[in-house]
Amino acid sequence: MKKQFQAKLIRWIAEDNLIRFYHLSQWRKARAMQMKIDNNECQVCKAEGKHTPAEMVHHIQHVRDNPMLVLVIENLLSLCNVCHNKEHPEKLLLNQKKFTNEERW
Ligand SMILES: [Zn+2]
Ligand SMILES: [Zn+2]
Repeated sequence: MKKQFQAKLIRWIAEDNLIRFYHLSQWRKARAMQMKIDNNECQVCKAEGKHTPAEMVHHIQHVRDNPMLVLVIENLLSLCNVCHNKEHPEKLLLNQKKFTNEERW
């Protein structure tokens, strides 16, 4: 990975602006390649013997935790949205917090 790209990515993480990474052609290519490798199927469901179409490509080591691996095929996994949510308990926690806050009013 190029140093410049790395710096850009780290800045986007700091600015909470990762959406810019997901718009890059490098990511789109890596994502399409992974979907193809995984036969467009959710890999967690597949391991449980179910066939569910993959809806997204997840980073096994999360982007924020390990930005060096964002474009490494071995770090990617095709998942359905249900399985993806399970891989990100931090998102659920965040939503819960929001919910409690809203409940106060
Ligand atoms: Zn699944
Ligand atoms: Zn993910």
